[in-house]
This record gives sequence, structure tokens and C-alpha cells, in this order.
Amino acid sequence: MKIYIANMGKEMKILVINSGSSSIKYKLISMKKEEVLAKGLIEKIGSKDALLEQKTFHGKKYKDAREILNHEQGISLIIEMLLNGEYGVLKNINEIDGIGHRVLHGGDKFSNPVLITEEVKDKIRECIPLGPLHNPNNLKGIEAMEKVLPNVKQVATFDTAFHQSMPDYAYIYGIPYKFYQEEKIRRYGFHGSSHRYVSEKAIQTLDNKKNLKIITCHLGNGGSLCAIKDGKCIDTSMGLTPLEGIVMGTRSGDIDPAIIFNIAKKLDMTIQEIDDMLNKYSGILGISGVSNDMRELIKAINENNPRAILAMNVFTYKIKKYIGSYLATLNGADAIVFTGGIGENSYFPRELICKDLENLGIKIDVEKNKNTILGKEGFINKKDSNIKILVLSTDEELVIARDTKDIIN
Ligand code: AMP
Repeated sequence: MKIYIANMGKEMKILVINSGSSSIKYKLISMKKEEVLAKGLIEKIGSKDALLEQKTFHGKKYKDAREILNHEQGISLIIEMLLNGEYGVLKNINEIDGIGHRVLHGGDKFSNPVLITEEVKDKIRECIPLGPLHNPNNLKGIEAMEKVLPNVKQVATFDTAFHQSMPDYAYIYGIPYKFYQEEKIRRYGFHGSSHRYVSEKAIQTLDNKKNLKIITCHLGNGGSLCAIKDGKCIDTSMGLTPLEGIVMGTRSGDIDPAIIFNIAKKLDMTIQEIDDMLNKYSGILGISGVSNDMRELIKAINENNPRAILAMNVFTYKIKKYIGSYLATLNGADAIVFTGGIGENSYFPRELICKDLENLGIKIDVEKNKNTILGKEGFINKKDSNIKILVLSTDEELVIARDTKDIIN
């Protein structure tokens, strides 16, 4: 297990890129003290009024709409903005030591971050059938960056990589084996960088004890849980795609697959319509009819909206059941970690999830829980709780920056 501490040695600046279909998010991180020098977002790539927003550590903000027709133009603009005399943070392009890319799907080809080469790009391309919405856009970001900064080393960190240590009985679906052999259909898991980051932080917080058993709950708009033993993932709630698992902001999570055939026949819905329904219009949004956003949901609960209350109950009950199943998988646990936008900031769902689990050794301290919000980290369990409960903030970009630094070094 590798434990990270901020490197006080040579200054290095790493640019982290998360390239989507019509957006690119970026962060420039100085690795000496692991400080964010600048972060930004380009949206609506492909349009005449694409949006660019950048903020820097010295408080400069830039916002503009302009024509950005493709990813290469977007990447060029990011570099231009980082070098901008008034709004930028770099004097010279050579100050960027490395570029780290978030790549969604590494299939079973990548269990670690890697230096990007032609062979690596081919393998990312081979994983497109598994991540058809993300991998092509991740590749666009990589290729655009290669054109704009051809001499800077690039690294890919995969959302799936941390989960490659799952045993076969955890990742094989109960369908004919040939679908695994021929189509690579199996469970892969996602949010790997976040689960890895917060579990490493938890291990440090628990005095680097050996063989720790940890259940990490990444609860954001998307969400997943992970069962971790001695720093290695042994099970996780997402599957072939991020649709499986807990109920999320707009995704259904686990459902009876027969629902799909049932509504396809009865309502004459197409595969694409059902795909959209399950990914975009289900989950907290679909049940409550209010919003996918936890803040809006809680507002509606405070107004006694019955469907908002139901959505919260479904959301937290499902997570409780996953925690129960991972306690069985791990044969007990030392700690449960909450992270992600909801996990870090919203005390009410954490209270509902952990309530009435005393017989399993989980005792939440309601007051501590209420006070651990908005960037605060720490233990929220009672003193006599056998299983520690921790709130830790995640930082997926920092994981990618650290991976990039390690690899290019
Ligand atoms: P993420 O996808 O990790 O950015 O998380 C987004 C989710 O976190 C949304 O459902 C937000 O409503 C929720 N969230 C963020 N900040 C807060 C907050 N202060 N209180 C409650 N929920 C929050």
C-alpha cells in the first residue's frame, strides 16, 4: 500500500484533463504543496457560443462565450488561458511537466494508470464498446493534447482500474459464460480513483494498520460503494456500466431486468428510450418528481412532500442494504467512509443510512454527524461503535495528478 504525503521536493505542475462529449474540465496542480493553481471548464464544444470559465488560486475569474468547434480548439484555448497575462497562472508553456487524463473504461486491460503511447490508445479504443459514451471523448482529449503539446508526457488514469482486483465470483454475471468470453460482459465498477483516494486516507487516519476492512460510500449525483480489504477492492456496486448499484440522482441502480421487456412490450418503448429513462429520468429525480439534486430533495422533504420523503427512503435503504452485504463480503469492517457531494455535505442521508445498525456494530453520533458538513472531515461514530464512521473529502483530480507525477518521474 502506497501512502502519499505532499512532496516537498522539486516543483512540478500537472494539468489534469477530463474530456467529455461537449465539455472539457481541467485543473492545473502544483505538486509541491498539492495546490490548485487554476481550474476551469469548457462547455458546449461544437457550438458558436461555447462557454469558457476559469478561476485561479489568486482569485482571478474569467468567463466568456465564443466559438469552439472541436476538442482541439478547446484544448488550445485552455493552454492560451493558462498563459494569459491577466487571467493566467503560467509564464511559459514549458512549466507544464505532465498531463493526466481521466479515462472512464479500461476494461480488463488496465489495473493501473499508464503512460499514454500508441499501444495504450489502441487499447482504450478497444474498450469503446464497454464505454461508448465516454472513451471516444476521452480519446479526443488525449489526441487534441498530443497535437497542442506534443513534447509533454501524458498519463491515463482509469475509473475502472482500482476494481480490477475483484475476484471472478464478484464480477461474473449469472448469464451464459460466453457473453463474458466473447463480449467481455462482466462487472467492472467505476469511481475507482475516489474509492482508492478515500480508502488510502482512511488507512492513514486509522494509523496505517494492516489488513483493514473498509466500506467506502461515494455518494454524489452518481454513486457507488466499494468493499476494500487491505487496500484492495474486493467488490463494488457499479457493474458493466455505471447504471448498476444504488439508486442515484437520475440513474435507477439495480432493477429487475424483466422490467425492460415488460415496458418495451406494453408501452412500445425503444431500447434508446428505455436507456434514457433508466439513466436520465430515474433515481431520486424519477421517484420524487422534484429534482436529482439532494439539496432540492431535502427542501421538498422539509415541506412534507411525500414523494420526496419516499425517494430519500429508497435512496438510503438501498445503501444500507449494500453496507449489510459488504459486511458479509468482508466478514465485518473496521470503517465506513462517506464521500462525494452528498456523502461529504449532507448529514441527513448519512443518519438514515447508519441508523438502526447497532447490532452490526455501527453506532452513529447524531450530533457529530450534523456538525460534519461543508468540507469538514472526521469521525461521526459514537465512542463505543465497533465500526468507525468517517467523512472524508474526495479529490479525483489530485489522484490523477499524483499518478501522472509518479509515472513521468
Ligand atoms: P457530486 O456529483 O459529487 O458533485 O455531488 C452532487 C450532489 O451533492 C448533489 O445531489 C448535491 O445536491 C449534493 N450536495 C452538494 N453540496 C451539498 C450540500 N451542501 N448539502 C446537501 N447536498 C449537497
